[in-house]
Amino acid sequence: MSITIKAPNADDIFARYLRIAPKKDVEKGYAVKGAVFDLDKISAAESVQNVTKGAVFYYQYKIDIKPVAKSTGDEQQVQVPKADRIDFFDFGSASVDKEKWKKKEDKLPGFKTIRDVSCTKCGGNGYLKCDCGGTGEMKCGKCEGKGTVSDARCKGTGKLEVELTVYDGALNKNRVRKPYQCPECYGAGNLTCPECNGAGKIMCKKCGGKKGLQCKDCGGVGKVYGYAMIPVPYKAVSGLDVGIFPSLKLGKFEKEMGQELEQILEKSDAISIKDVKQLNQKVIEPNLGYIDGPIKNAMNECAKEFSNLEKNKDTKPQYPIWVFPLLILDCKTRKGSSYQIYAIGTEKSFIVRGNL
Ligand SMILES: [Zn+2]
Ligand SMILES: [Zn+2]
Ligand SMILES: [Zn+2]
Ligand SMILES: [Zn+2]
Repeated sequence: MSITIKAPNADDIFARYLRIAPKKDVEKGYAVKGAVFDLDKISAAESVQNVTKGAVFYYQYKIDIKPVAKSTGDEQQVQVPKADRIDFFDFGSASVDKEKWKKKEDKLPGFKTIRDVSCTKCGGNGYLKCDCGGTGEMKCGKCEGKGTVSDARCKGTGKLEVELTVYDGALNKNRVRKPYQCPECYGAGNLTCPECNGAGKIMCKKCGGKKGLQCKDCGGVGKVYGYAMIPVPYKAVSGLDVGIFPSLKLGKFEKEMGQELEQILEKSDAISIKDVKQLNQKVIEPNLGYIDGPIKNAMNECAKEFSNLEKNKDTKPQYPIWVFPLLILDCKTRKGSSYQIYAIGTEKSFIVRGNL
């Protein structure tokens, strides 16, 4: 059996607010010409137009953020042309608020730590020696290095033959062969090698004539960048903070009221939840006496944040999680200007703000 807590009533909230509101603003809104100004003559009935009920979920959490220690052995290396793929960081002398830090990493590549490191594999040359001995050339395979190839037309002889037909007096037919200079090679029997143009050597296919092979470690640059992983300079924070989840918008009062709620925790007999799993409709609705969509949203948001803080090693959320009634009074002054009054708590103890 749960006992439904009692929200403060609108008359009490209104009366309390009038006493903390800036006096000159109250007078401005309610003074009647010719009459003596009296706070007690201002009634909730004539001022409060509408009351909206909601709830506030609230807990405290311990926070303890220590700066991340510098450590050795975090040196990284990257090829110079590929360094543009890395995000480097330079925090200068600024410190970082860890709760607002959006990256997961505590340590990141430090821009100021970048230094040139000579490549050990290639000795800083950028290349490794090629099988061609660094000449960039190799023997021509077509001519075996001779620079010439045998002329196919004369089969390397430098001569061709013409076969003449010769008849004798009895008209016997004879064939007579006569050699002549090969018109292709002009008698040389060979031709300049078309592959190497007579040089006997061609460009080394392995190194492409560059005499060396690109070093894979440094990508041909001869050096790489060395850099250190530097810790994000978190601001040290230690203390108590609060999570506040109102189902209705509190605007600029949210933080202020969140801080002030601590003062009424014990006196107010608000709902106290000792297990985040209890933040569900079954438990909250009978205790609060009502529930709606925005309250469920605030409840779920509170449960989610509480669990996140439990998982975070810097924060320790504290039980109980408190659930307070929240009331917003839409009011009008005698002069007709609108303002709102916000109240969080129970009839036993509540806090009030307003924007008259
Ligand atoms: Zn190298
Ligand atoms: Zn050749
Ligand atoms: Zn020939
Ligand atoms: Zn080569």
